[in-house]
Amino acid sequence: MKTSIATVSLSGTLGEKLEAIAAAKFDAVEIFENDLVTFNGTPADVRSTCQDLGLDIVTLQPFRDFEGMPDGPRARAFARAERKFDVMQELGCDLLMICSNVSPESLGGIDRAAADLHELGERAAKRGLRIAFEALAWGRHINDYRDSWEAVRRADHPAVGLVLDTFHILARKTDLGAIRAIPKDRIFLVQVADAPMLQMDYLSWSRHYRNFPGQGDLPLVDFMQALSVTGYDGPLSLEIFNDQFRAGSARSVAVDGHRSLRFLQDQLESNLPPRSTVGGTAFVEFALDDTAAQGFERMLAGMGFRRAGLHKSKAVTRWQQGDINLVVNREKEGFAHSFNIVHGSAVCALGLKVNDAAATFERATLLLDQPFHQPVAPGELDIPAVRGVGGSLVYFLDDAGPLARVWEIEFDDTGAPDDGAGLTRVDHIAQSMQYEEMLSWVLFYTSLLDLKKVPPQDVPDPGGLVVSQVIEAADGALRLVLNASQSHRTQSSRFLAEAFGSGVQHLALATDDMMRTVARLEQNGVKLLEIPENYYDDLEAKTGLQPERIAELKAHNILYDREGETEYLQVYLRPFEQFFFEIVQRRDYRGYGAANAPVRLAAQARLASTQRD
Ligand code: MG
Ligand code: MG
Repeated sequence: MKTSIATVSLSGTLGEKLEAIAAAKFDAVEIFENDLVTFNGTPADVRSTCQDLGLDIVTLQPFRDFEGMPDGPRARAFARAERKFDVMQELGCDLLMICSNVSPESLGGIDRAAADLHELGERAAKRGLRIAFEALAWGRHINDYRDSWEAVRRADHPAVGLVLDTFHILARKTDLGAIRAIPKDRIFLVQVADAPMLQMDYLSWSRHYRNFPGQGDLPLVDFMQALSVTGYDGPLSLEIFNDQFRAGSARSVAVDGHRSLRFLQDQLESNLPPRSTVGGTAFVEFALDDTAAQGFERMLAGMGFRRAGLHKSKAVTRWQQGDINLVVNREKEGFAHSFNIVHGSAVCALGLKVNDAAATFERATLLLDQPFHQPVAPGELDIPAVRGVGGSLVYFLDDAGPLARVWEIEFDDTGAPDDGAGLTRVDHIAQSMQYEEMLSWVLFYTSLLDLKKVPPQDVPDPGGLVVSQVIEAADGALRLVLNASQSHRTQSSRFLAEAFGSGVQHLALATDDMMRTVARLEQNGVKLLEIPENYYDDLEAKTGLQPERIAELKAHNILYDREGETEYLQVYLRPFEQFFFEIVQRRDYRGYGAANAPVRLAAQARLASTQRD
């Protein structure tokens, strides 16, 4: 299917939009009339720009309030249409998209609509043009694709076809069965859009909250399955009205759009290497300068990590405990160094265990993710990687071949034994980002890897609300928490300001025995975030835990949550610059302690303000 996007989906001038659409490798574009009206040039200029960029023009849209008008307005509607036909001929576009009438003047009646469509189809055909009819979810008389199809069917004209728009169909939860019976040559255009589930009127929902397939909650795959029964092979076009997209970078939004279409098609046809199951976090790499590295490594030692390896040729150290590998990179050149210059002490890369690293990298490339390469010294592995959040890297490792032996191949074992503090694995990785970026990274992770998003939550921070979006593997082998806020005063926003961009703000490590772990940390002089007494009074009232248990939690600043019979224990370390560690113990618990997040955020805000004073 030909991939296309409507110019209304992007920010910028028409020229900028077209450049971005071509750069994102779309085949075609829908020209939104407003973009043409505000364009500083003629439709013929747009035509030649599109030709130069290799973009077909799928349609000119929208043409409103056409069908079913009483006599006077009806004549005017036909005259308006003729003027659009003039523009289309200059544009070199043969399809006019008509939305169902919303005018209070319109009269309704399928036969009346069909007669109008027939007559306009006749006029269009004389010029070698076509028209396509869409049922808006809020159309006055026609708001269901089954009715728009019936009008098109009765119009019975080869120049009159149907537009199917997933938003209008799925927002109303219209049954998809009837799509299967529509002949494919009667469908002139398919527009795809997703949206989050919201309780609001169709018009506002559609005009502000649409997003790319896979970013929302609508059953796009069910729609595509019904469509595939028809054999439809015409344009598949994104028509996304979204306030964030229209404020964002046209280039990156366009790439996200094309990625979403490739992912959608892959879910139907499996034409890409499959989404990899994630087996866990192979390593987390920190970019630090020498001074910061000293303090950071002292903290790691206090947390029970042992220095397990020194890189054979680089200033890179491996710290290990249980299945956790933390890599401290102090190089003075290369990627980590540049990252450190821009972001300060920060996580510069995540290594993920996948079933097949090469296939995952290939899938990433086909999804238009950004591959990363840097020169590899003799004896080093070329680990496949793509760009992730904030320009950091995501490496892919698997159990086959040399990638499985990365520590042996690249590192000298320093083997100093330590019985550790009982930390076992990376539990979750929290990344802070701009609010506008969140949908983009949701799509990045879920299109590439076998991960699911759970419904987002609002978490109150003393400085404003933070939206928290979890993306996780079904078995919990990888858990990501994406945080963003529209307030500048929240901790997640301050992180962005102070760390100069998006990135990993905290890393949660798992223990099977929280009491043993905190005892060891305290013994080693590691300071935990202090939790106010009120929290424990409230906890006692809320949970009915035994006073001795409460006292124990309170003595070690442990936060507690419970869902049914499952339990969750959490402690936070004092931050290291902008970054901090969390330690958690899960007893069959599936969440992230959302109920405790405001307490933790307030405690961190208090600590930050005392440190500032
Ligand atoms: Mg539409
Ligand atoms: Mg956490």
